[in-house]
Amino acid sequence: MHRTYAFLPPAYGHINPALPYLAEWARRGNEVTCFSTEPFKAPIESAGLKFVSLDGHMRRDYNGISTNMFHVAEWVMDDTLLVLPRLESLDLPKPDLVIHDALSLWGYAYAKMNDIPAVCSVATFAFLSWDMVASPRMMWRLIKMIPPGMPHFMQTAKMSLEIRKRYGVRVPPGPRALYRYENLNMVYTSARMQPWSQFHGPRFRFVGPSIADRPHAPAMPNVPDDVPLVYVALGTLYNDRVDFYQNVLRAFEDLQVHVLLSTGSEDAVAKLGDVPRNVTVVASAPQLEVLQRASLFVTHGGMNSMNEGLYHGVPLLVVPQMAEQRYVGRRVVSLGAGLFCDPAAATASALRHRARRLLEDPQFK
Ligand code: UDP
Repeated sequence: MHRTYAFLPPAYGHINPALPYLAEWARRGNEVTCFSTEPFKAPIESAGLKFVSLDGHMRRDYNGISTNMFHVAEWVMDDTLLVLPRLESLDLPKPDLVIHDALSLWGYAYAKMNDIPAVCSVATFAFLSWDMVASPRMMWRLIKMIPPGMPHFMQTAKMSLEIRKRYGVRVPPGPRALYRYENLNMVYTSARMQPWSQFHGPRFRFVGPSIADRPHAPAMPNVPDDVPLVYVALGTLYNDRVDFYQNVLRAFEDLQVHVLLSTGSEDAVAKLGDVPRNVTVVASAPQLEVLQRASLFVTHGGMNSMNEGLYHGVPLLVVPQMAEQRYVGRRVVSLGAGLFCDPAAATASALRHRARRLLEDPQFK
């Protein structure tokens, strides 16, 4: 039995793929304690893990988090400087193993300062520095983040010094703080899907989509089964896009399909008001169950949404909401599993045109 501490950021996109892996580790007789915030208590406990709340010690709700990586790095370092004193004050027994998300800098630092072996859970593609060079578009997007990101970079430089002074752990300032890899890194995609996986070396394990029952998922909405189902969702962080949802309503109103639109909030459902007869709008959908029935997934290209769509053999129309999702979208297109639509050009007719291609041409599936 290995006493294991798991550190995951408070975001479904990172918790959902890690839980089946942690649950399996617990099922094999290890004691797993997961440190997170209250909204994630129920799914963590039903995966058979112990839960310790960090509420009040993590300043941020990651929903609506900035798309600027320098800003995200500042949030993460800020949280690290709050969580580490909390962990010290809990006076916990030393674990045998730490499993932390690549973005959970506090878990990485906790392992390093206590000299505990650690495994990294990678809920995105496993980005390495030279990915930027290999992808000029990605590089350009990062460069564009620098001017507005400068004040945040300065903060991360200060906080990096603070972390080193207080805990003796070296952390690079800026976005590199968000990719804290270990000697063993579990990446929830296949080696084929991961760009340049042949150069990642044996410490990266491409274990494929991490899919398991979600007992706390909402109930499956009532949708007709005599026409193809189009599922539309922008994930959990960047879904405040009523303008886009309105285009979706118009894009599909004359097609012989039924649309299930998950908006991420009751507020957006209310804003959409009356919708065409062939559309069902919900605040949150049981995504894995929906994908078992869907013929097309209009997605933001979150890593999990991509994985879950591909796992269920559903063609993807990727409308990215941030730089990393553009990268995911381009990968999907290059492997022939879907199409891409720039969010700025996601008009009703652009969406309809691509959706028809994806529904009619069997090569994508
Ligand atoms: N999800 C869900 N129901 C919804 C919307 C999203 O269950 O209505 C889940 C989805 O299955 C995925 C996660 O939330 O596991 C979103 O993660 P992803 O990486 O796709 O995007 P993010 O939310 O991190 O942007």
